Amino acid sequence: MNKSINDLKKLPSIDSLLLEPQLATVIAPHCLKVEAAQEAVDDCRKQILQGNTPQNGITDVIIVDTIQRLKAKAQPSLREVINATGTLLHTNLGRAPLSEAALQSMNTVARSYSNLELNLETGKRGHRYSHIDTLLCRLTGAEAAAVVNNNAGAVLLALTALAQGDEAIVSRGELVEIGGAFRVPDVMEAGGVLLREVGTTNKTHLRDYKTAINDNTGLLLKIHTSNYRIVGFTDSVPAAEMVALGKQHKIPVMEDLGSGMLFDLTPFGLPKEPTVKEGVAAGIDVLTFSGDKLLGGPQAGLIVGKKWAIDKIRNHPLARALRIDKLTLAALETTLSHYLDEQQALDEIPVLRMLNMSTESLEQRSHDFKEQLQQRVTQSCTVEIISENSCVGGGALPITNLPGTALALTPLQLTPDQLTNRLRSAQQAVVARIQEDRVIINLRTVFPNQEVTLIQTIASSLQQKNN
Ligand SMILES: *Cc1c(COP(=O)(O)O)cnc(C)c1O
Repeated sequence: MNKSINDLKKLPSIDSLLLEPQLATVIAPHCLKVEAAQEAVDDCRKQILQGNTPQNGITDVIIVDTIQRLKAKAQPSLREVINATGTLLHTNLGRAPLSEAALQSMNTVARSYSNLELNLETGKRGHRYSHIDTLLCRLTGAEAAAVVNNNAGAVLLALTALAQGDEAIVSRGELVEIGGAFRVPDVMEAGGVLLREVGTTNKTHLRDYKTAINDNTGLLLKIHTSNYRIVGFTDSVPAAEMVALGKQHKIPVMEDLGSGMLFDLTPFGLPKEPTVKEGVAAGIDVLTFSGDKLLGGPQAGLIVGKKWAIDKIRNHPLARALRIDKLTLAALETTLSHYLDEQQALDEIPVLRMLNMSTESLEQRSHDFKEQLQQRVTQSCTVEIISENSCVGGGALPITNLPGTALALTPLQLTPDQLTNRLRSAQQAVVARIQEDRVIINLRTVFPNQEVTLIQTIASSLQQKNN
């Protein structure tokens, strides 16, 4: 104990510590230096009290620790992650990466002033929707369009504008919860819309909607079940039949498509998903979908449909609270413009590129990657090529797997958990999955220009000493 007290006296003051040349020359905000030094001294004090006085000189140990802490503090909290999970749309990883052209548009609009709400022809006040509504109508065949901050906001706004105080009829099979606590009944309640459930979990028929219609019915609502599927003995009512029923009773029909695709994905071996165009053609009054799911753009909630309904939505006070910002709008306009040419969309939009990556090219990349990685990790890891499916994720095509190839790493001196922890906390963070005690690296979601860094990060994570 006496020894500890003696050692405690050797702890440097923060002021003297910051004057040490190794720290004085580090360029960092003073407040961060003080914070890092304080933490390092506190930690050292704890170690001493536990009888673990550092052997190499107390001040030296604290300096090294302070520099380490400063490095961590100086890193931005929100930063790039290499997604080696193979899941294309990972809400925790920020969903869709943007196209190069979308990034450039954001950059241009961000660094200067813009005509966000100015009509350059007339010099009068314009509207931010004007930058995407023509494009959205052209792509979907809709009469009018609006856009807000995200699809949850789009659903809330549309429900509120169209059916506040009224009943909306929804199939029990569609009352879903989507990741991040978007629950359809809760959103309806927030919008002041009364939920009228019809049908059963697995089957809902047109007659169920018909018998539920009454004087208070304000909306027939259809919701894409996104992240789950009921399989087997199921039935739901096609959009066109709901539209016919709505017309008969003068009740609007709304559909929340969730992911929302602008063209048919079946040529790429994916299952049939309703496209926005089909919904519009079926006569649905309002359709909502996300900007950052399969569309491959920035976070946004897109709303298309009949002019009367879109006008009501645009003019609702809630629209102002949910409005899209100019950077998102710039990225969205450019992303949507890629869709004017399907081939361009497939080439330019990263999510579609990954979705459309051939099994052969993924296999070739995996083999090349294996060869390069193996040279670096012969002593610390075995590397195998395996068949692995990727998920689309993000509430899109929930049960669809994209067949392909991946690498399976078996670390020799670490557990798989230790390796994935190190990969996450590396200078360039990497997120990978563990499967059957192996760390899986799926290159479908890794950009080719990230491969060199990925190899370096895996190699150095395997080599680091155990602590
Ligand atoms: C994802 C999803 C939402 C929420 O969209 P965000 O863009 O995440 O706000 C709403 N409805 C459905 C059906 C979805 O799949």
